Amino acid sequence: MKNVITIDGPSGSGKGTISKLLANRLGYRYLDTGALYRAVAWKVREDNINLDDENALRNLLENIRIELDSNRISVDGTDVTSEIRTAEIGELSSQVSAIPVVRAGLFSIQRNLCLQGKVVIEGRDTGTTIFPEAENKFFLDAGLNERARRRFEELKLKGPGITIGQTLEDIRKRDERDSTRENSPLTRTEDMVYIDSTSLSIDEVVEKIMKSLKK
Ligand code: C5P
Repeated sequence: MKNVITIDGPSGSGKGTISKLLANRLGYRYLDTGALYRAVAWKVREDNINLDDENALRNLLENIRIELDSNRISVDGTDVTSEIRTAEIGELSSQVSAIPVVRAGLFSIQRNLCLQGKVVIEGRDTGTTIFPEAENKFFLDAGLNERARRRFEELKLKGPGITIGQTLEDIRKRDERDSTRENSPLTRTEDMVYIDSTSLSIDEVVEKIMKSLKK
């Protein structure tokens, strides 16, 4: 499968920025799967759904209407682009993403969104579960302190009360949950090209990926 490039990695590894640039360079579409989990988390909070209520969650997944283009995302007609980027929704999306009915519902949504045309898809299980058959798979990583610093730079624009220590602790907790959950945990596999971006510039990472692409 040559039409799909997958990029997985932990929070703050630079997946979003890099995937967008790569998609632009190649003329591919870009799919941020984390935004889908965040959209579901937003709806769970909006509708006051208890995370133990499997039927309510299944129902939500069957009926949710998520629309996204490269700049905006809306849920059931409400633009949530900026609301889903808070630390609170980040944490809730990680909890929601460990629930099997949520992953199953988003599995088909992700496959369907990608199977038309060429796409760069990024997340935590895009190369392992969503498109294991992709030929170009990458795992982006960076040291914990650097990832926390990057995430803090984003978050402080949204919530002035946030500290770097709190961001680091949140990321550590999320990484732990995302990597140890039973269902599609974040995993690096042998067939992924591993890139540690701790001391690389954005352009250097994009170049590395461009050079590794199997044509
Ligand atoms: O990447 P981002 O921080 O936006 O993702 C939010 C949360 O969604 C992650 O912490 C993770 O728990 C979940 N996620 C996932 N699988 C993906 C993408 C995101 O479980 N493919």
